[in-house]
Amino acid sequence: MAHVSLQNVWKIYPGDVAAVRDFNLEIQDREFTVFVGPSGCGKSTTLRMVAGLEEISRGTISINGRVVNDVPPKDRDIAMVFQNYALYPHMTVYDNMAFALKLRGVGKAEIDQRVHEAAEILEISDYLARRPKELSGGQRQRVAVGRAIVRKPAVFLFDEPLSNLDAKMRVQMRAEISKLHRQLAATMIYVTHDQIEAMTMADRIVVMKDGRIQQVAVPGELYAKPANTFVGGFIGTPPMNFFTGTLRQAEGGGLLFDEGGFTLPVHPSQRERLAPHAGRELVCGLRPEHLEPVADSANPGTLAATVEVVEPTGPETFIHLHTGRHPFIARVAPETRCRPGDKLALAVRTDAAHFFDGENKESIT
Ligand code: ADP
Repeated sequence: MAHVSLQNVWKIYPGDVAAVRDFNLEIQDREFTVFVGPSGCGKSTTLRMVAGLEEISRGTISINGRVVNDVPPKDRDIAMVFQNYALYPHMTVYDNMAFALKLRGVGKAEIDQRVHEAAEILEISDYLARRPKELSGGQRQRVAVGRAIVRKPAVFLFDEPLSNLDAKMRVQMRAEISKLHRQLAATMIYVTHDQIEAMTMADRIVVMKDGRIQQVAVPGELYAKPANTFVGGFIGTPPMNFFTGTLRQAEGGGLLFDEGGFTLPVHPSQRERLAPHAGRELVCGLRPEHLEPVADSANPGTLAATVEVVEPTGPETFIHLHTGRHPFIARVAPETRCRPGDKLALAVRTDAAHFFDGENKESIT
């Protein structure tokens, strides 16, 4: 159906604001790609350049091999779903979905068939005669998606489509959009600031910061092998914990990461990679689930810290701790007993530790 290519794409707004910097990406046919990053990192601008709603300052965007830089939005074979739904308030659900087809001169019978087909997929067949104000937020969002489906576009673009829904509806619509992607076997690009949406829906995630791509990877890889501290901290809740320290030779061979308050032996599987960094300042990244409370802090690979806050969530508990130099969070079993002020020993899964260059913050593991 559709392959989308972005090559050396820049967006520079008046006043020299570089919102997107040298963006390079090949999106495969039927792929579900999610652009994720904090507010203002350039996700929407990139999507809007694909849609044709924003001029491309530099670089090339092609859809199915055709450069679309100067092609108007209506001729790009794309459909976009917006955060605010953008429905016509005075039209019925049916007419909202039929409108773009009517403009294109599609025949009445065909329009009828496509609208009913889309309504069925989205389970909104019973609401076709209603107006948007007579629908819930979730139903309105379905209509907005339906309006895109009836056009049978080569590429679907979603700009934070779930942000206006309550938490429960977001979880439900998330699964529905994933299902829809499989059903339609369509190419989709989805923008969100929510890393959970990105992780749960994407075939491939593009993490952005300050207009630049930080990493492109499948969700599992992004979580297991973050390219830098930004990605490590952005993907995962609670986020990855970071400790600055120095790498040094251990007595009797091997390497030690020295935080100042505690030391961690470097796992044998990582020694070779880290050896050239001995003597330098590094950042050690530890996921909250790789810290396990233990009785004894004397073993190598264990750190001791003071409990500051205990947050039970039900299935697991987040313990906020402090080493004296660094705050961090451990994700532990709910039956773990501790209180603010307690000293807690935690065994570190050193094989799962991440190390980053102290200066450029890029991963060296
Ligand atoms: P995101 O979608 O990641 O939140 P945007 O793509 O909306 O980010 O914006 C990226 C950057 O471009 C922001 O710094 C924003 O302020 C700036 N920006 C967006 N639209 C305009 C505009 N029309 N004029 C000037 N700057 C803009």
